[in-house]
Amino acid sequence: MVYTADWIVVQDDARTVVEHGALAVADGRVADVGPAAAVLARHPGEPVSALGEAAILPGLVDAHTHVPMSAMRGLAEDKELFAWLHEDVFPREARWEPRLLRAAAELSFAEMVRTGCTAFYDMYMLQENVFAAADAAGLRGVVGENVVRFFPQLGGATRDALFGRIRDNAAAWRGHPRLRGAVAPHAVYTTDPETLHACRDLADETGWLFGMHMSETRKETADCLAERGLRPIPYCDSLGILRADTALFHCVDVDDADLAILRGRGCTAVQNPASNMKLASGAAPVQRMLDAGVPVAIGTDGPASNNAQNMLRETWLAALLGKLSTGDPTALRAQTALDMATRGGAAAIGDPLAGRLEPGCHADFFALDLRGPGMLPVHDVVSSAVYSATGLENRLTVVAGRELYRDGEWLSIDVERVRASARQLRDWAR
Ligand SMILES: [Zn+2]
Repeated sequence: MVYTADWIVVQDDARTVVEHGALAVADGRVADVGPAAAVLARHPGEPVSALGEAAILPGLVDAHTHVPMSAMRGLAEDKELFAWLHEDVFPREARWEPRLLRAAAELSFAEMVRTGCTAFYDMYMLQENVFAAADAAGLRGVVGENVVRFFPQLGGATRDALFGRIRDNAAAWRGHPRLRGAVAPHAVYTTDPETLHACRDLADETGWLFGMHMSETRKETADCLAERGLRPIPYCDSLGILRADTALFHCVDVDDADLAILRGRGCTAVQNPASNMKLASGAAPVQRMLDAGVPVAIGTDGPASNNAQNMLRETWLAALLGKLSTGDPTALRAQTALDMATRGGAAAIGDPLAGRLEPGCHADFFALDLRGPGMLPVHDVVSSAVYSATGLENRLTVVAGRELYRDGEWLSIDVERVRASARQLRDWAR
């Protein structure tokens, strides 16, 4: 298939934007990209999908989310993080049923493919449900199993039981073309050194990635200093658990010494602007991270604390927050924000073939409709995507060459079933 559009944002190293472009797809990969006349001449006889006044962009990567938490969207609002977790979230999470977990994940995936997100990095419990939902939905992603030091818990009666389930999932999903697992200790304040060492060993044993919440609030830093004598990042580094396979979510309260460690270990930082603003946790020092050479991605943190699973909305917010928090309107440019949502996301999920549309890369992309009054006129298509789009302009989402959404139709998800399950999820959460 060859897709043509008025604009193609390639996101290669030169940040090429092709006007009147074409993208050829074969075997789930980008086969060719460039001016439409040239690409069509090189691929005669192939079916053509002419999108016209639209912009094709690499699929967005939601680099930190909790997809089953769609069940708690709008449930407990306007609270402080620790009160929200202990009063509203943890008591409900103790009562999950696998059937509902899968339905909640599917609800999030429906929103993702609607709004141009093609890949995700999830962190939750009983993740065989999210693996199954993501496999069926056709998305690409990292499915992280949450680990805390308290037992019994939903993931298992003992740590051996929990780790046994993780090993079973690793065996069951090994070699999947789009999905990979992660061992995801929840945070420094819900684990201990022994748990963190065990998680690192399990990630190395299974070949899964490693990710955790990190330095989300000043309280987390103060508590870690009091209990461990170190800030969260130096504490984790002293345990030897931070590597190039590691994604650290939030990174709001980080100083220059923390960033030097992240740079040295090759970790990716994932900012979560909406969640951090809503919980008043603060703003991650994103421009300083980038200046320090730390790869940065963007995540929604899931629908319970966002309250959306919409990466265009999040990318817009990341750009604005980057300016507000530095007092510098030249910080966090539109191109930088798009880079974080695409190429930065690829770093977080450990997939160098994601986040760009060069030949050989994954055919993961979406197409923004540029015909609406809110998108006109187009002076700079990257600016249009980052500052004007809301997500609902998206008319096509493709992952590994497969169309998952087109012009109001979900092609891999039964959206009527999702609507029915959302009513069951509301009853469950109540
Ligand atoms: Zn989170």
